[in-house]
Amino acid sequence: CGIVGYIGSQPAAPLLVEGLQRLEYRGYDSAGLAVLGRTGTTVVRTVGRVRGLEAALPKRLAGKVGIGHTRWATHGPAAERNAHPHRSEDGRISVVHNGIIDNATALRAQLTSAGVELASDTDTEVLAHLVARSGADTLEGAVLEALDRITGTYALAVVDERHPDRIVVARNGSPLIIGVGDGEMFLASDVAALVRHTTSVVHLDDGELATITATGFGTFTADGEDTGRTPVEIAVAA
Ligand code: GLU
Repeated sequence: CGIVGYIGSQPAAPLLVEGLQRLEYRGYDSAGLAVLGRTGTTVVRTVGRVRGLEAALPKRLAGKVGIGHTRWATHGPAAERNAHPHRSEDGRISVVHNGIIDNATALRAQLTSAGVELASDTDTEVLAHLVARSGADTLEGAVLEALDRITGTYALAVVDERHPDRIVVARNGSPLIIGVGDGEMFLASDVAALVRHTTSVVHLDDGELATITATGFGTFTADGEDTGRTPVEIAVAA
């Protein structure tokens, strides 16, 4: 249902929570976030309100890169195990996703026969495993390989402990917007979650991906072609 992301010089968790609160009006059944830190990724997920997620966060959560999600269940009931982010078995990859992966049943079966223990009932979880099992050197390459295997709609954001300097995102049929800050970058499925921080945004197109770092971003297609997008200023009512 809703996606937020942050990479920059501030602790990510409070900014993710605040962004998720601004998406609450869209409705959701559960919420979660993943923050990359020096000792790995912290993932916290709760059924119910974002306030409950906030209350469940560990006190010391200083990581400056993270992704968050409010879920409106399509595959599997509202339950903590089905809340996003979803992770690879080793915890290295975390993924949030809006939309529906049409061939998830077949992919879940394939992953299970390959020995993967699925931890949720969702369509989304396959993405985390497919990215983790890719042989690509880059996170961008791994995400592209995973997307090559799936059909359906998505706005998604992926973080990888091996590449903690970036968030890789992709869009096909669900909105995704990059917010450009000064030494920090934001990400959201709805401008409502960005406008307090920046009015300089990039609306991704269907079929477009992006790499977001603290100091910039790059946009590209599934064929690896640079789409060279530049931010536009949005008007915000005072
Ligand atoms: N299909 C995914 C799920 O059921 C994402 C739902 C959403 O867009 O919130 O978890």
